[in-house]
Amino acid sequence: MKTIITVAVTGAETTKEQQPNLPVTPAEIAESAYQACLAGAAIVHLHVRKDDGTPTQDPAVFGEAIRLIRKKCDMLIEVTTGGAIGMSDDERIAPVDLGPELASLDCGSVNFGDEILPNSFPSLRRFAERMRKFGVKPTIECFDFGHINNAKILIKEGLITPPYYFTFVMGVPGGIPATVKNLLFMRDELPEGSHWSSIGIGGKASLPMGISALVSGGHVRTGFEDNVYYRKGELAESNAQLVKRIVSIAQELGHEIATPAEARAMLSIPKR
Ligand code: ZN
Repeated sequence: MKTIITVAVTGAETTKEQQPNLPVTPAEIAESAYQACLAGAAIVHLHVRKDDGTPTQDPAVFGEAIRLIRKKCDMLIEVTTGGAIGMSDDERIAPVDLGPELASLDCGSVNFGDEILPNSFPSLRRFAERMRKFGVKPTIECFDFGHINNAKILIKEGLITPPYYFTFVMGVPGGIPATVKNLLFMRDELPEGSHWSSIGIGGKASLPMGISALVSGGHVRTGFEDNVYYRKGELAESNAQLVKRIVSIAQELGHEIATPAEARAMLSIPKR
């Protein structure tokens, strides 16, 4: 099995103050995604921002970023439906209608520091149905162990169909801690034949969870949404630099890196 690398270039919460090289405009986001694609990323997890840098789910801004990315490369586009804390379901779901290859489906409510990311079953069903309607594959984001069970309920209801693509978001303050034991615990709970990826939140968790996924049959996500550092006290130069590092570790382990075309085939996603 080849390894699929996802790059989360911007996110909703990371700021230019934390990471001066954070891509913010659609043109910057597209260029950063393209450079990460050249470095080995097959999927870009996409958030967009307003001109003032604050997060938005405006389909016009998403549409512009998607158009610019597709002009440069054939990487798979995964729009966020997590959006930013405090957004309504209507706002969060909007970019799904643009027909990207994938969209994140946050499969349960979770505390996020002092905030909460609400995902009731009625919301989950609505998000999953909208994705199905537009032919968008859900990336099933699990912030905690019970979220895998929530996904299984949606699977049983026929709202999510195989091949399943899970991702474990580990180390959110309020979610499951980023440990190897927890990663394996979550992996072992997945339905047969699932693909899965790890996300370690923060400089301490990002690389260890990436490496843990590589040696445990998983795929990896990296990028400024999850971590802005290259190592302790040293900011990463670019999203591509973070991708290059995990690609080189994967290759040292004897893994081959999936191209966008190979990732599409593995996840049974038709070319747009
Ligand atoms: Zn995100």
